[in-house]
Amino acid sequence: MTDVTRKDLFDLPEGLIYLDGNSLGPLPKSVPARIAGMVETEWGGLLIKGWNAAGWMDQPRRVGDMVGLLIGAPYGSVVMGDTLSIKVYQAVAAALKMRPERKVILSDTGNFPSDLYMVEGLLRTLDAGYELRKVDPEEVSGAITEDVAAVLLTEVDYRTGRLHDMNAITKTAHDAGAVMIWDLAHSAGALPVDIAASKAEFAVGCTYKYINGGPGAPAFIYVRPDLADIAEPALSGWLGHAAPFDFAQNYAPGPGIERMRVGTPPVIQMTALEEAMKVWEGVDLHDLRKASLALQEQFIEEVEARVPELELASPRDPEARGSQVSFRFAEGYAAMQALIHLDVIGDFRAPDIMRFGFTPLYLDAGDVTEAVDRIAKVMQERLWDDPRFRSRGKVT
Ligand SMILES: *Cc1c(COP(=O)(O)O)cnc(C)c1O
Repeated sequence: MTDVTRKDLFDLPEGLIYLDGNSLGPLPKSVPARIAGMVETEWGGLLIKGWNAAGWMDQPRRVGDMVGLLIGAPYGSVVMGDTLSIKVYQAVAAALKMRPERKVILSDTGNFPSDLYMVEGLLRTLDAGYELRKVDPEEVSGAITEDVAAVLLTEVDYRTGRLHDMNAITKTAHDAGAVMIWDLAHSAGALPVDIAASKAEFAVGCTYKYINGGPGAPAFIYVRPDLADIAEPALSGWLGHAAPFDFAQNYAPGPGIERMRVGTPPVIQMTALEEAMKVWEGVDLHDLRKASLALQEQFIEEVEARVPELELASPRDPEARGSQVSFRFAEGYAAMQALIHLDVIGDFRAPDIMRFGFTPLYLDAGDVTEAVDRIAKVMQERLWDDPRFRSRGKVT
């Protein structure tokens, strides 16, 4: 196994232990200069010519292929744009068109709320008797009945880190005639994904978590290549048109994955992401996975030995976890605030989950031990009982 740690490529504040790369990845050091250069020479110098001369128009595909390498997607099957919520909407809408005789979308109660909200909104708009059926994560396979048009699941549960068996569930969905959509928000850049091997029809994900593209970084959508010319785009914007610059009166979908584009891409943000992708050069995702699990195992062992107040909320079996570990604690919100005050950043998810992300690109065993030292301090000294840690910000 080769060492995947490359802390020197990231700009992390001195003394800070960042266990929240699963929510917002840190800044790769080369990004600020790339952005400044892009703004000055491309936007400033090239102006409108930048769309061709600086490759802005092709960037969503170019970066899509870079992200594709992290999720096992063949060349030309991924495109960037919009936010993950929008990409979920596009994938579900296209999936429903592929099974017009079926009326059920199946998801699980552990899914991220925005995915479920987007489906609710789509179904209200369609107003055609569709049902969003939610079951417990453990019940999904058994619930894929012959009335299910599409199965929408997030591979890694955002609260507990529980990992779905992507290949097995996809096969069950296909055996029942359903379309499979995977949300890879907590998978892409966190663990090896082979979306092509899974044979799923669609995958979506964001790039500001483990891919370190920065706040507001564009999302991605994958469409299985044999379906890319069949999938009907619900959001039929001009940049997904077959010939946007013909300015035709009527929409005609573009070739392949191009049709999943909607409008003008966020070029500055896309450039930050393109630059941030360079930290992945030479990283073997299987090595990354091994390193992530080693950090997680060390963390669980040390927390359980030294901080009995915390109760493991993630699966104990490492193979059943993504790249995060969560613990339950009734005063979890205030405890996390106190911990952040001690320069260990994790996050809190209601009602009582303290969540810690493990990102071997910039974390090592020494960081884990130091983090547990500070968690133990919060508990032993009951720092969470301080009123200043109890008032809630807008973002937890
Ligand atoms: C982070 C996350 C989102 C966020 O969606 P945005 O549109 O990017 O804000 C959606 N779904 C899942 C599963 C997530 O983990």
